[in-house]
Amino acid sequence: MTSAAALEALLDVQALDTSADQLRHRREHLQERAELGDRTAKLAELEARASEVQGERDAISASEKRLEDEIALVTEKAKGADRQLYSGTVNVPRELTALQDEITSLQRRQRQLEDQELELMEQAEPMDALLAELAAARSVLDAESVTLTAAIAEAEAAIEVELADVVAQRAAATDGIPDDLLKEYEALRGGLGGIGVARLSGNRCEGCHLTLSAVDVDRIRHEPDGALVHCTECGRLLVPS
Ligand SMILES: [Zn+2]
Repeated sequence: MTSAAALEALLDVQALDTSADQLRHRREHLQERAELGDRTAKLAELEARASEVQGERDAISASEKRLEDEIALVTEKAKGADRQLYSGTVNVPRELTALQDEITSLQRRQRQLEDQELELMEQAEPMDALLAELAAARSVLDAESVTLTAAIAEAEAAIEVELADVVAQRAAATDGIPDDLLKEYEALRGGLGGIGVARLSGNRCEGCHLTLSAVDVDRIRHEPDGALVHCTECGRLLVPS
């Protein structure tokens, strides 16, 4: 391969490298990935809120349970007193009155406890509704996340196929290009946003899109064929057309 041919081949390598860079960029910046990030953040927000509400709801459940236990106890006591009252074993009027008073007092206590229980149930109602709402919203977000994850995998797989093809083409394109020229290209490319070599079209460098002075262009065009020349503006390798 002549030096001039090597420079032309280097332009092909550059085109393939640019394609590969674009494919990698596309892979990193998939719209679906941003959307998935959004759903993940919303899910975390939702779960935090749900866990907060669930905590309050659990506290109410515990109070309900305590009240129910107490109601059962009071009811049992009242029943016992009632049985005693009608058992015929108590005949002393003072004791009968005391028993009746106890039953009345226990029944009053039972009603109080039942009222408290009702209040708790009323507090729980909107919480249960909110928890159901949050769970439904979470299902929607979960489903969307699954769809997005699948879409990302599909898009990535398609990009991988294209990328593998470009990488294979690049390997073929570098064939015959001297190692030191490739190394210089790689170094320039690394420091100059991925473009290490560019065509000189007329007076314009296609790498930086700046117009070179007529003197510089004249000097470059009079270099021997295949000589390594650099853009005076950006420093990239220039390949005169
Ligand atoms: Zn330039």
